Amino acid sequence: ADVVNQIAAAEIIHRPANAIKELLENSLDAGSTSIKVTVKEGGLKLLQIADNGHGINKTDLPLLCERYATSKIANFSDLQSLATYGFRGEALASISYCSHLEVITKTHADSVGWKASYANGVLKEDARPTAANDGTVITASDLFYNNALRKRAFRSGSDEYARILDVVTKYAVHNPQVAWVCKKAGTAMPDLSTNAGSTTKANIGLLYTQSLASELLEVPETTFAPKLGASARGWVSNANHNGGRKPGFLLFINNRLVDSSKIKKAIDALYTTYLPKGASPFAYLSLSIDPDKVDVNVHPTKSEVHFLHEDEVVDALVATVEKALAGANV
Ligand code: ADP
Ligand code: MG
Repeated sequence: ADVVNQIAAAEIIHRPANAIKELLENSLDAGSTSIKVTVKEGGLKLLQIADNGHGINKTDLPLLCERYATSKIANFSDLQSLATYGFRGEALASISYCSHLEVITKTHADSVGWKASYANGVLKEDARPTAANDGTVITASDLFYNNALRKRAFRSGSDEYARILDVVTKYAVHNPQVAWVCKKAGTAMPDLSTNAGSTTKANIGLLYTQSLASELLEVPETTFAPKLGASARGWVSNANHNGGRKPGFLLFINNRLVDSSKIKKAIDALYTTYLPKGASPFAYLSLSIDPDKVDVNVHPTKSEVHFLHEDEVVDALVATVEKALAGANV
């Protein structure tokens, strides 16, 4: 059964950047205002995420890595309406099947922290008291140590690190209230560092370029036809970004970083009207869709999302973005 679970886990945690996405969403779920990611060898040797969120109760530690055993899944009827990031209860379980997983956590009410190690879904021994700050530190070492095939798929740690940095960058743009750090273990200088209480625009300037930030056009919060149960906001740019700048397409639906080839295509088509050929567009779009009408958590590896009234929502979104782009050209 462990082998089956290990294979399933490697499907869910396809690469280090998937694990990071799940872990940082847990940290955001816990109300953290500081999230620090530390990585060794592109996350294959070490992936660590330290937050200052509400922590995990000691009594929840034994079942933490049991699939579907999380508090949020307990009431199955809640599933439909759940608007927070995670509800599958599979991320930590999966990570425990494909790495050495250690959790150090302390709630505000606790006077000491607790340290727990997991293998293949189970707590290895009783959690031990340890000195800790309020919050949670999750450390996954030797990712895919038990899956040689998966491990061989990764050529270079630097490519995986770039993917991790990209995920953290996008979440930092979307969650500017949090102080974010992303760094390689053993280096003094972080590759990404933001201040708590920043703004999306300021973080775009910091993490992409200042000149991009100065050209950004706001897509003001816009509610689409009420029956669609959707609204959008964001920042876009219609400037010609040929000067070696990183292009960007950041799409969040209900606060989860997702892909939607429909939305991407529609926005790209719009940009060909508003941008010179060969220019690299930038768009950060945050959509809220009635959770009953979207399933952003179909499967962790399937970040491609679909939702009800998709064509109408995409049309309304394109019209909204076009208004922002066109407004600047008048
Ligand atoms: P899910 O997020 O889908 O419930 P996970 O496996 O990602 O499942 O996490 C399991 C549970 O562990 C979460 O529901 C949450 O209660 C707890 N948890 C995980 N990470 C953290 C964290 N950083 N801070 C506080 N609680 C956490
Ligand atoms: Mg989760």
